[in-house]
Amino acid sequence: MKELWERAKAIFLSTLRSDEEKSQAARYFSMITSVCVENGVFQILTLNSFAADFLKTEYAERLKTCLDLAGGDKSLSLAFRCSPSAQPPIILPPSPAAATAPSRSVNTFISTMPLNDDYTFDEFVEGPSNSYAYAAAKGVAEHPGEIGFNPLFIHGGTGLGKTHLMQAIGNEMRRIKPTLSVCYLTTETFLNEYVNSLQKGRAAITEFQNKYRKIDVLLVDDVQFLQKGKQFQEEFFNTFNALKDAHKQIVMTSDVAPKNLSVLEERLISRFEGGMVQEIESPSYETRLAILQKKAEGITPVIPDYAIRFIADRIKSHVRAMEGALAKIKIAMLLNPGVSLTNEMMTRALKDLIEKEHNIKKLTIREIQEAVARKYGVTIEQILSPERTQSLVTPRQLAMYISRKYSSKSLQEISEPFGKTHATVLHGVKSITKRLDVEEELRETLHQILNEFGINPDETVN
Ligand code: ADP
Ligand code: MG
Repeated sequence: MKELWERAKAIFLSTLRSDEEKSQAARYFSMITSVCVENGVFQILTLNSFAADFLKTEYAERLKTCLDLAGGDKSLSLAFRCSPSAQPPIILPPSPAAATAPSRSVNTFISTMPLNDDYTFDEFVEGPSNSYAYAAAKGVAEHPGEIGFNPLFIHGGTGLGKTHLMQAIGNEMRRIKPTLSVCYLTTETFLNEYVNSLQKGRAAITEFQNKYRKIDVLLVDDVQFLQKGKQFQEEFFNTFNALKDAHKQIVMTSDVAPKNLSVLEERLISRFEGGMVQEIESPSYETRLAILQKKAEGITPVIPDYAIRFIADRIKSHVRAMEGALAKIKIAMLLNPGVSLTNEMMTRALKDLIEKEHNIKKLTIREIQEAVARKYGVTIEQILSPERTQSLVTPRQLAMYISRKYSSKSLQEISEPFGKTHATVLHGVKSITKRLDVEEELRETLHQILNEFGINPDETVN
């Protein structure tokens, strides 16, 4: 019962978009003292009658849907009442299992690319930075194709667990619904297959189209690569629509939010935003510790706690970098058997990774240009070209801005690799500075690019 409620709550929370809504819901949920089922009514008991009223008028309808989604008996009605010290007996509802019984009996699990067995929900450490994405992914695994979760779009910086969560959906489905056809693939693979089929002719194209339109759950990783081609976008759009219309589940990941997939057509972006969009952010200290502890399990020699805290203190932006840090500490221990690691030894072992976190002044102009071009789906040549369309001016000026702030180069030194005058660079930097004050989207893009370099702009002193 409690589990059903916890699941319903997680689903409900994952449907909220704004921070304001989330914190309001969290506040009212914290006033729930207990839940129970009595006479076919799912009762939610609260600390005071104000909370009961609020929950009823604001959330009742949506909560009922979430209870259904979480596997609750659909005939249950929902009631709210004040009961500050409620400890009612827990009465279980009839099992909902029959409702989700697989409709086909043969194992049709397919995947274009193999799933990593370690990428499961159990191995994923949940924390405030990823809890909404996590809950949404679980919701999808349990109820693929349900309205509200389709498509699920997970975005966030590199190495923060997008692929892990997406494959966890695949692994979970293989476990609990082996009869569904689930397909995981990266956007690049999709693109390559498409291009191959184009070269082979009509029959191959039809085969390609049929293949992806017959799938029950399509997991497409890194859709930012859709920005690579117009015709490919069109093909993806068609596959997307065919699956969506047939109530098949689609999950996508990207390193930017849908609205920042700037090269994509508006209709594609709005379709992507039509289900649920969740972001994964950089993990907090506590989450970093928990992740490191989990990843350190089973490593020999045993990584001591102080070393884990040492890493959590210093490697903040990427989980992947944290894994790298553990491996480096392990090597340092193997090289110094019987010696307890000192801070100095660990600093030496993690030198590169720590530098990447902190010594941001080492970014080269080329690295910056590449990262910005990648983010905007344009080429470096376009960034360096004299063309003045807005879709090029923004990335060009943003690259100038980042170079100015994070490369420790003078305006003169920056202007050269951009092939522009000192005054043009200055103008670009100023223009971005002004726009950052008012344009949240641009701020987010900047954050994401800096994130790739392991830079947290909030901690940066200029
Ligand atoms: P992304 O696709 O966002 O670039 P990945 O999913 O490839 O990132 O994650 C990079 C590595 O970090 C993987 O090995 C993954 O298992 C690990 N990882 C990321 N987030 C978590 C988490 N919350 N709990 C456990 N492992 C995580
Ligand atoms: Mg990935």
